[in-house]
Amino acid sequence: MAAINSVTDLTREGDIAVLTVNSPPVNALSANVRDGLSAGIAQAAADPAVKAIVLICDGRTFIAGADISEFGKPPKGASLHDVQAAIEGSAKPVIAAIHGSAFGGGFELAQACHYRVAVPSAQFGQPEIKLGIIPGAGGTQRLPRLIGVEKALEANVSGNPFSAKLAHEWGAVDGLVEEGKLREGALAFAKKVIDTRMPLRKVRDLNDKIEAARGHRESFDKVRRDNARKYRGFEAWQAVIRAVEAAVDLPFDEGMKREREEFMNLVLTPQARAQRYVFFAERKVWKIADVPDTTPTLPIKKVGIIGAGTMGGGISMNFLNVGIPVTIVETAQPALDRGLATIRRNYENTAKKGRLKQSDVETRMGLLGPGLNLDALSDCDLIIEAVYENMDIKKEVFRKLDKIAKPGAILASNTSYLNIDEIASVTGRPDHVIGMHFFSPANVMRLLEVVRGEKTAKPVIATVMQLARKIGKIAALVGVCHGFVGNRMLHQRQREAGKLILEGAMPWDVDRVIYDFGFPMGPFAMSDLAGLDIGWSKETSKSSTIREILCEMDRRGQKSGAGFYDYDESRNAKPSPVVEKIILDFAAKKGINRRTISDEEILERCVYPMINEGAKILEEGKAQRASDIDIVWINGYGWPVYRGGPMFYADLVGPEKVLAKMKNFEATMGEDFKPAPLLEKVVAEKKQLQDL
Ligand code: NAD
Repeated sequence: MAAINSVTDLTREGDIAVLTVNSPPVNALSANVRDGLSAGIAQAAADPAVKAIVLICDGRTFIAGADISEFGKPPKGASLHDVQAAIEGSAKPVIAAIHGSAFGGGFELAQACHYRVAVPSAQFGQPEIKLGIIPGAGGTQRLPRLIGVEKALEANVSGNPFSAKLAHEWGAVDGLVEEGKLREGALAFAKKVIDTRMPLRKVRDLNDKIEAARGHRESFDKVRRDNARKYRGFEAWQAVIRAVEAAVDLPFDEGMKREREEFMNLVLTPQARAQRYVFFAERKVWKIADVPDTTPTLPIKKVGIIGAGTMGGGISMNFLNVGIPVTIVETAQPALDRGLATIRRNYENTAKKGRLKQSDVETRMGLLGPGLNLDALSDCDLIIEAVYENMDIKKEVFRKLDKIAKPGAILASNTSYLNIDEIASVTGRPDHVIGMHFFSPANVMRLLEVVRGEKTAKPVIATVMQLARKIGKIAALVGVCHGFVGNRMLHQRQREAGKLILEGAMPWDVDRVIYDFGFPMGPFAMSDLAGLDIGWSKETSKSSTIREILCEMDRRGQKSGAGFYDYDESRNAKPSPVVEKIILDFAAKKGINRRTISDEEILERCVYPMINEGAKILEEGKAQRASDIDIVWINGYGWPVYRGGPMFYADLVGPEKVLAKMKNFEATMGEDFKPAPLLEKVVAEKKQLQDL
C-alpha cells in the first residue's frame, strides 16, 4: 500500500491501479482528498505497468459530497475541476467504484470518470438545491448527457437521491456488481475494459440525449410549472433549470461556464448561507451538552397513548409506522371509535395515493390496541399523555398512571404550554417524566420539542431523542417555560398581529406580509385553519376581543365557513367586509385612531419581538443554542428555510438594527418591546446571535 497523503493511497493489482480514498466519516471532497486524487491519477498515469485506474473509497460510502465547510472560504489545494479534467483527460480509463452515497461533488467526480460501477445499495443524487445552490462541477452538464434531460432536470430540481438500479437503467452506471464485492467487481470491470479495448468514454462528448431534447422546451416549462409552489421564494431552482437548459443549448465547455456563473452567483447569497447554516443546525440539534451519545437508553418496545383526539391519533401513527405496537386509551367508546377511524382513514388515504400498500395499512392497524382504562397501559415502556390542555386533568391522569405504569416506564406529556415539573410532581418518578411536544398533524410535522424537566433523568432524555430519530422527527431539547420555545415565541407574533389590526392594518394585510416573507400562511389564516374557538367558551365570552366577537357570531374559522375570512365551498379565503366592519367598530369603541401601517412595520412588529423572545429563551437556558430555536421555527411553524430561522435572520438584518427598532417601538408602544439583555449584550460585543 503506497500512501499518497493522509487520506488517499494507490496500489496496483496486475495492470490495474486502485486509487483509494479514506477520509472518514463520509470521504467528503476536502482539499486533502482532491490533492490526493490529483496526485494519484498523475502517478498512475506515469506508471507504464498501469492500463486502467479504479477509483474507490474505504469506509461506509463513496465520496458523499463536497466539504460544505469550505464554501465561501478562499480556495485551497487542487480544485475539483482540475481533478475532473485530469480524470476525464486521462489516457487510461478511470472507473469509479461506488458504494454508499455518491452525492453532489462526489457524483460529479464519478461523472467525470470513463465508467461507473456500483453495488445495488448505492445511492446517487445532486442535492445541491437543498443547500440553496446548484451543482458547480458539471452536475447540470454531464448528468443530462448520461441520463437524458428530463431525468437530469428532475434529479437536479428535486435534489432527491435515486437508487443504483435506476442509475443503471438510466445510463449513469455502467455495471452493477454484487453487494459487498465492490472491489472485486470493479477490478473485473476494469479488466474487461482493458481486454476488450473499450473506448475512453468521456461523458462531455456524449451528445445523443442532449440532441434529442433540443427544440423541446416542454420539459423545462413543465418543471417550472410543477415546482413554482414548492419553491416559492427560493432562488436556486430557477438557476438549476437555466443551467440544464445551457447543457442543451450550448457546447459542453460553454455550458460548464454558464453552470459556474450560476453557482458563483448563488454560493454567497443570504439564501445559500441560510441553507448551509440549517444543514449544520440539523446536525447540532441532536447534541446535548451533558447527555453524551454514550448515555444508556431504555428499550421502547411498546408505547401507550392517552387520548385519541387530534394529537393522540397522529402521535400513535408515528410508532405504528416503524412497527412499534401502541395501546391507545380513551374515556368512552365513541371517542375511541372516532380516534381509531381517523387513524384508519389517514392510512387508507395514503394507500389510495399509492404511497402505502393495503397490506401495510392492515399491519399497522394490527399493531394498534384500543383501551378504555389506563390499566391497559401497564406493559408499556413509554406512555404519552395527549388529553385536554388542563393542568388538573393532566395531574389526575399522571397520578393514576404512576400507579399503573411499570417501574422504569417513561411518562410523557404532549402539553403545549403547561409546566412539566408540576405534572411530574404528582408522580413518584419525576425523573422519568418528560415533555414530548408534537406538532399538528403529528403524523406529518417533523418537529418534536423534547421538554426536559428539572428532574428528568439523562437516560430518559437520551431514549426520547433516539426514539425521535427512529420515527423520523427532528427533535429539539427545550426547557420548562410557558409554551416552551415555539409557542412562547409564537405568542409574540400573535399579540402584535392582533394589535396591528386594531391600529390600522387588516388581517389580510398582515397575512400577505407574512406570506410574502415566506411562511405558508399568515397568522389570521392560520387561526382560521386551527379554529378560532380553541380555548373559547360561549359562557365566558364577553366580546372583549375580535376573536371572541367572531366566535360569538359563529365565525369559528374554516370549519364553520367563516372566521377572519369568508370561505367558499372549496375553502378559498376571501377578505370579509363583515370582519372589516367589526374591526373598525371595535377600534372606534376603544378610541384607537387608526393609521396607515407600512408592510415594513408589519414585518418588524411581528418578527423582531420573536427574535427578542428567542434571546430571552437563550438567556434563561431554555434552549441549548440559537440554532435549535431556528430548527424549531423551520420545522414546526413554517419559517422559510431560506431565511435560516429567526435567530439567523436577526444576524442577516443585523442585531444592532433589531435592537434599535425594539428600542424605538418600546419608546412609542411600551413594555412589549423591551429588549432582552442578551440582545443588548450581543450588540455591545458585536457578536452574532447564531453563535450563541
Ligand atoms: P383533543 O380534544 O382533540 O383530544 C383530547 C382527547 O383526550 C379527547 O378525545 C378526550 O376524550 C381524551 N381524554 C380526555 N381526558 C382523558 C382521560 N382522562 N383519559 C383518556 N382520554 C382522555 O385535543 P388535542 O388537540 O389532541 O390536544 C391534546 C393535547 O395535545 C393537549 O395538551 C394540547 O395542548 C396538546 N397539543 C395540541 C396540539 C394541536 O394542534 N391540537 C398541538 C400540540 C400539542
